[in-house]
Amino acid sequence: MGRSKILALFLIVLLLISGCTDLRSSKGEEASTEGKKNLIQEEEKKENLEEEIEIDYKKIKPNELGDILVVMYHGLVKNDPPSIWQRTIEGFKKDLEYMYENDYRPITMKDYIENNIDIEAGYTPIVITFDDSLSSSYSMQEVDGELIPTKDTAVDIMNKFAQENPDFGKAAIFFMNANPFMRDSLTDIKGQGDLKERLEYLLDQGYELGNHTFTHPKLNQLKETEVQKEIGEINNMVKEVLPEATLDYFSYPFGLRPDDKSNKLIISGQYDGVTYNHSAAVREAPRSPYFVPPVHKDFDIYNISRTVGTEGNDMDLWWYFKDYEKNPDRRYISDGNPDRISIPKELEDQLDKKKIEKDKEVYLYDLTE
Ligand SMILES: [Zn+2]
Repeated sequence: MGRSKILALFLIVLLLISGCTDLRSSKGEEASTEGKKNLIQEEEKKENLEEEIEIDYKKIKPNELGDILVVMYHGLVKNDPPSIWQRTIEGFKKDLEYMYENDYRPITMKDYIENNIDIEAGYTPIVITFDDSLSSSYSMQEVDGELIPTKDTAVDIMNKFAQENPDFGKAAIFFMNANPFMRDSLTDIKGQGDLKERLEYLLDQGYELGNHTFTHPKLNQLKETEVQKEIGEINNMVKEVLPEATLDYFSYPFGLRPDDKSNKLIISGQYDGVTYNHSAAVREAPRSPYFVPPVHKDFDIYNISRTVGTEGNDMDLWWYFKDYEKNPDRRYISDGNPDRISIPKELEDQLDKKKIEKDKEVYLYDLTE
């Protein structure tokens, strides 16, 4: 082999190697471009996520110190309610429709009391309550061998409404008396199913149970032992069929509070060896401080206001609906993040900071800056 041939071969080998190197480096470049793309995509994803979480404060103006309505219903009637305590079936459907269309979302009593409000940004929570455990509010009927909510009871209506509008959801608390969900003197609905079946269904569906005393007496006219018995018997009735269930909230019959001596029994007590604890209690009407939320410094946890679920009466549900249309700033407006309490700076002095759990952060914002 001549020198020139060796040189040529050497050059070819060199070319081949450098070609391979080129190939390798271009592959490497491809890989790094790919990596960059991935990084950019990751960044974009992160930004989108932040956009999802972060909200436009100027647009949404969250106010988590604003009013939260607590609505009070008793039974539903077909037509001509005999008093303001009843609502018609159509009226109740209209209430839900209005709530849905006007950005109200039902939350549980538990989430309300514990300030654990997890609804979308821009929406207002609302608490729905039923007193007297009437069969027109909820009862079960056997249809084709299966127990289901009686047609056109409030539970049947709420279940169907939530099915049609999943973004509305459902929540309500039922304050019970003896023999719950079996009778209603204004309708011919007679409930079916045993106590366990009736209560279990409600709890399975995410509804809540509360205590409204055994015989619905005027608590201000009873002795301490009688008050204890009235509250304790409802608690024991539930515990007997559902030992794990707790009744955490109380509703005063006729809105009447017991005398000073017995008042502590609203908070906790014991009957027949069974203990109960109520972390909140509701009244029968709106009263000062009206509908301030639980983190407000004036919130009165054993005297929570309620507005009656009717239209056309003073300070009833529709009176408030219309009032908030005129004064939207008074409504609680969620920031969409249950762990952050967003409050306009000018309302800071109305916040009770002691009521803010450690895992939650208060965010005071000022749009005037
Ligand atoms: Zn009642």
